[in-house]
Amino acid sequence: MVKYLLSEEDLPRSWYNIVADLPFELPPPMHPATGQPLQPEDLAPLFPAALIEQELTTEREIEIAEEVREVYRLWRPTPLYRARRLEKALGTPARIYCKYEGASPAGSHKLNTAVAQAFYNKAEGVRRLTTETGAGQWGSALAMACAFFDLECKVYMVKVSYHQKPYRRVLMETWGAQVVPSPSPDTQAGRAVLAENPDSPGSLGIAISEAVEDAAGRDDTKYSLGSVLNHVLLHQTVIGLEAKKQLELAGDYPDVVIASVGGGSNFAGLAFPFLADKLRGRNLRVIAVEPEACPSLTRGVYTYDFGDTAGMTPLLKMHTLGHSFLPPGIHAGGLRYHGVSPLVSVLYENGLIEARAEPQTAVFKAAVEFARCEGIVPAPESAHAIKVAMDLAVEARETGRSQVILFNLSGHGHFDLGAYEQYLAGKLQDYTYPREFVEEALKDRPRVPNTP
Ligand SMILES: *Cc1c(COP(=O)(O)O)cnc(C)c1O
Repeated sequence: MVKYLLSEEDLPRSWYNIVADLPFELPPPMHPATGQPLQPEDLAPLFPAALIEQELTTEREIEIAEEVREVYRLWRPTPLYRARRLEKALGTPARIYCKYEGASPAGSHKLNTAVAQAFYNKAEGVRRLTTETGAGQWGSALAMACAFFDLECKVYMVKVSYHQKPYRRVLMETWGAQVVPSPSPDTQAGRAVLAENPDSPGSLGIAISEAVEDAAGRDDTKYSLGSVLNHVLLHQTVIGLEAKKQLELAGDYPDVVIASVGGGSNFAGLAFPFLADKLRGRNLRVIAVEPEACPSLTRGVYTYDFGDTAGMTPLLKMHTLGHSFLPPGIHAGGLRYHGVSPLVSVLYENGLIEARAEPQTAVFKAAVEFARCEGIVPAPESAHAIKVAMDLAVEARETGRSQVILFNLSGHGHFDLGAYEQYLAGKLQDYTYPREFVEEALKDRPRVPNTP
């Protein structure tokens, strides 16, 4: 078979919370002013109670509201493909499976959490959501989810992407969202950056500061984050829960699970349900793949840092390049956040997962090869996972050992054709983020009492 499909009946009824199974403590988020562990009420200006509860819970299974499952049914369960043509082209004995999250209307996995977040906000009487977006996938997912639950949506879009990806903006506007380039004159955080550098290209960290300030300043408004936080990773576990059932249909179980890592949500979504088995003793490799140009896991420092540039968010213990990180302008491959989710970071720190950093030209080369075999043009982010899946398949050919490889095809690349154009014209360059920059940026990192 080439694709393994589940029926709407097989759609998971609950999300899987890996916190329940961790054999070690997850360092708590800290209040930026007091340096004490964050209390649920500290988060109340930004998030509805249901999501705060999901953020902090240690329950293993969290029921998915029926209203959320109803929207999921529009595109879920997503297909699991066996990449047979790619296997043949590589001449590998490995069996390569990919879970295709690009099947969602917004084109990526991000809708899985956007729909849940919009629902729980609406249920508590919120009228308006703010958020940031980089390449635009998260902004479009939230824009669609807000349209479905009749919420206003304001998106602060990193300025360089706003100008490079006009069609992402039009997509968000089609779903009814208001989109402004960040830094914007609409917030204090934005005005401060503009005063210092009117030509600032913006960054995710700056856009988060703007969206948080906007939400904290209005009673009818909350803030929505597309990755990093526990509740976001939780919502994404439908991916791995479905993939497990689909691999059962195929009569297989992965030797290795691979996904790209930005903030960590598509990785967690696919990997956590499988890591549950690993935590119970199953032999399994799990690999997170990040860009050489933004290597938070492989070259970042594991420490408490802010989630944004202005230092308004709680402090999270995570692998970070420093919250003042500005991604290099030549980098087209997505995945440009300075940190990685605390959950993914703690798993890496404890040796339960591996990480690799890949240069963008090799990533696009793999993307093009995949597209020519399997048809789907992958998002540059997803192509990081493809690159490593292909490397392992070639290794399997060389050692003659059969391997079952599963990776997350987190989205399609139809809005990333500008980056493909640059690659095909030979204009993309590799860039390795220097370790000295990390040390420099972390000199002014926040100090949290009683922690290293
Ligand atoms: C946003 C995005 C990512 C990276 O974000 P995570 O939170 O790490 O999942 C990966 N792939 C696609 C297609 C995305 O849109």
